[in-house]
Amino acid sequence: MPRRILITGASVAGNTAAWWLGRHGFDVTVVERAPGFRDGGQNVDVRGVGREVLRRMGLEQAALARGTGEQGTAWVDGRGRAVAAFTMDASLGDGPTAEMEILRGDLARLLYEPARERATYRFGDRVIRIDDGAEAATVTFASGASERYDAVLVAEGVGSTTRELVFPGEADPRWMDLAIAYFTIPRTADDDRMWRWFNAPGGRGISLRPDQHGTTRAMLTLRQPPGGEQDWGADRQKAYLRQRFSDAGWQAARVLSGMEATADFYFDVLRQVRMRRWSSGRVAVTGDAAWCATPLAGIGTTLAVTGAYVLAAELARGDNVAAAFAAYERAMRPMVEDGQGVPKIAPKLMNPNSRLGISLLHRVLRIASRPGLRRLASKLSTGRAKEPDLTGYPDPAGA
Ligand SMILES: Cc1cc2nc3c(=O)[nH]c(=O)nc-3n(C[C@H](O)[C@H](O)[C@H](O)COP(=O)(O)OP(=O)(O)OC[C@H]3O[C@@H](n4cnc5c(N)ncnc54)[C@H](O)[C@@H]3O)c2cc1C
Repeated sequence: MPRRILITGASVAGNTAAWWLGRHGFDVTVVERAPGFRDGGQNVDVRGVGREVLRRMGLEQAALARGTGEQGTAWVDGRGRAVAAFTMDASLGDGPTAEMEILRGDLARLLYEPARERATYRFGDRVIRIDDGAEAATVTFASGASERYDAVLVAEGVGSTTRELVFPGEADPRWMDLAIAYFTIPRTADDDRMWRWFNAPGGRGISLRPDQHGTTRAMLTLRQPPGGEQDWGADRQKAYLRQRFSDAGWQAARVLSGMEATADFYFDVLRQVRMRRWSSGRVAVTGDAAWCATPLAGIGTTLAVTGAYVLAAELARGDNVAAAFAAYERAMRPMVEDGQGVPKIAPKLMNPNSRLGISLLHRVLRIASRPGLRRLASKLSTGRAKEPDLTGYPDPAGA
């Protein structure tokens, strides 16, 4: 009998784990709380070892082909003029814009389509109880069903509720004093292929990024202490953003008007998840549920892909679930801790309060964007050190 694995969450980490475990011959079920596959989300990137995992899945070229086509990052002034620009240059390594920039939903779907050929997906359900035993974990779902599994992998993102069932109070959040709203707005003729970032006084930021769907991806950033805004309804969140950004300048009016009509609105108050352990008995956490580093680290999707791959490979080594979870944690912890090392001052530096602070930031960025300093700037913005050594892990695409 193949071993039975339950994965909760059908996004980047969950679908990657399902793809590999299905391939290793496990009997895999993925349960997703949303009523159907979630296509939404804005720009994410995959770098370094994460790209290597996609290559081993035979998906690297497809991910590049579905990329957003973003050509670089430019900080602009109130009239839209670039004051500092980092154009993408593969020879210099990934900078703020990586070579593989893709929409979260496009990447998740790229993983989901082949994964569902080898796994059973159940949408609109979630775990409400897990009884962990020596022989199996018995899982009860909100739908009333109850099933036994050899292992349960929790890949539910930063706000995971199953994680709280199994590890109550252990996901110590580290709030980053930054709130970000992401949404899609109509494209206009002057939207180019750059990520344009405008800083307004009061720690506010407006970003516009290209996509491949004929629309533009907008981001509103607010630097402030956390106030529970992530739990408000979308209407209240939008009203709040209207009030905070109406006098911000640049393209604020266009972006706020686009926000009213958008079909995908995602708002989060950034916090890192820091756990002292990633497994208990037959349950392990992975992806943002285990270690959310926040978009400030620029490495969340890379970690999700890599962690899920390593976890699946370790489970495939043998019957000892505890040994597999321990090896997974040993392999991933250095990269996670390195990636989480974003100083708490980073949001403050990138989102200054005063006009003087903004002009200082622009001056520093202008210097950093000079060719001689680009390599260093790339290194600082990626945090790729301490990646796990993938030698000895499966590489079907290279075989
Ligand atoms: C809709 C959406 C939009 C996003 N947009 C952006 C963005 O614009 N920019 C950015 O940098 N990052 C974004 N993210 C976060 C980004 O995807 C992650 O940081 C990263 O890719 C790690 O992915 P993950 O699979 O660990 O977690 P996530 O991508 O957060 O996925 C978690 C999945 O678990 C599901 N889930 C949650 N709770 C339960 C539950 N109790 N039972 C079952 N399923 C559950 C969620 O619906 C989701 O599908 C977004 C995530 C989502 C879900």
